[in-house]
Amino acid sequence: MSKRVVVIGGGVIGLSVAARCASRGHRVTLVDATPRTRGSSLGNAGMIVPSHLVPLAAPGMVAMGIKWMANPESPFYIKPRFSLDLLRWGYRFWRASNPAQVRRAAPVLRDLHLASRAAYAELADAGENLGLVKNGLLMLCKSPEVFHEEVETAQTACRLGLNAKILDAAQAASLEPGIEMDIHGAIHYAEDCHLDPRRYVESREQALLAAGGQLVYDARATDWRVRGRTIEALLTTAGEIVGDQYVLAGGAWSPELARRLGLRLPLQAGKGYSVTHPHPVQTPQICAILVEARVAVTPLGGALRFGGTMEIAGMDERINSRRVQGILKSIPNYYPAFSVGDFAGIEPWQGLRPCSPDGLPYLGRTRVADNLLVATGHAMMGLSLAPVTGQIIAALVDREPSPIDLELLSPDRFG
Ligand SMILES: Cc1cc2nc3c(=O)[nH]c(=O)nc-3n(C[C@H](O)[C@H](O)[C@H](O)COP(=O)(O)OP(=O)(O)OC[C@H]3O[C@@H](n4cnc5c(N)ncnc54)[C@H](O)[C@@H]3O)c2cc1C
Repeated sequence: MSKRVVVIGGGVIGLSVAARCASRGHRVTLVDATPRTRGSSLGNAGMIVPSHLVPLAAPGMVAMGIKWMANPESPFYIKPRFSLDLLRWGYRFWRASNPAQVRRAAPVLRDLHLASRAAYAELADAGENLGLVKNGLLMLCKSPEVFHEEVETAQTACRLGLNAKILDAAQAASLEPGIEMDIHGAIHYAEDCHLDPRRYVESREQALLAAGGQLVYDARATDWRVRGRTIEALLTTAGEIVGDQYVLAGGAWSPELARRLGLRLPLQAGKGYSVTHPHPVQTPQICAILVEARVAVTPLGGALRFGGTMEIAGMDERINSRRVQGILKSIPNYYPAFSVGDFAGIEPWQGLRPCSPDGLPYLGRTRVADNLLVATGHAMMGLSLAPVTGQIIAALVDREPSPIDLELLSPDRFG
């Protein structure tokens, strides 16, 4: 039966959910507070990453974060400030950063990423021009110590059924002919791929509209009208919107609306930056991560995007040029043909990643309301997990079982 589905958030997650629900015959309205900025979804690195089996909350991350705090150009930073939410989030992050949690999370993340990858490939096969390139991802390591750690992760990935190849510098160079690389070694993850996130976002908007859905931009959701355990309407700056099912996909902004329903959704915004060079001196063909620098490198047609930094500094959307410099300075260390001066005059982009304390998304129903679904908290993996998130939420709207076990992902897990 066709339902009225109201989706809050026009980022890559909200759009994927909305387009999926509309393709199943539901009457979908998507609301976004901004004219058309699509949250943190346009300028990201566009990587689809089954290789990312280890959530952000992993052993060693707390110590590394503390070490990096003093460096204004470091890739990870928590701005010290008094906030109970931040303190609670930090405590939960610390609790989740243990090997047992990583072992539990890894197969779930693998299944989610692989299902999403298959969905992307289906869209591309059906003629959607997403710029999808299925040639893997290279983890480029400069130091033998870090390479050794990456080899261990690759071995875990292989045990979980992924295709990860350990390469010395010469073998890595043979995969990227004509590209100068100064590295100790690399891991090649064959299942990973990349696309142009803008094209994907636009394709979902078109799919939603073609299936009869409605996009309401420039309308901020402020509250709910609730009777008992049922949401009767969403209150927005453009008036009330009435639905049968509501999906909260507001990215890093989600906790405020969740709190109004009594749902505690611990999230911190993890700010990141990207810089896209339209005519780089060299263009690698395979997307890569500069491991020590935590910088993602993505070829987008003839252009090349560099993205990085995880700055936990509240809902602050200003650009911190020192951290952007940190990204740029790392590039020649791996690709000596580049220099920082190549990027003069290029405007950086920023986005706020919605980061849960255990590094896993919030997906599914919640006990606070019978007709609310939550789809947020994807942190560094929102683009990668967008299509499978759409599939899962659309199945739940139709009261079908989720294609993936959601136990670890419950929005009530910190309630
Ligand atoms: C530098 C960088 C590189 C990245 N690279 C990758 C990558 O390679 N692969 C990958 O998988 N992920 C990557 N990510 C992460 C990815 O971009 C995010 O996980 C993803 O964009 C989150 O999508 P979202 O839809 O949940 O949130 P957003 O894209 O932030 O969208 C949320 C939307 O909700 C709207 N909204 C919020 N509250 C309200 C309200 N009350 N009323 C109305 N509208 C509201 C906002 O306006 C916003 O448009 C990267 C992120 C960054 C910053």
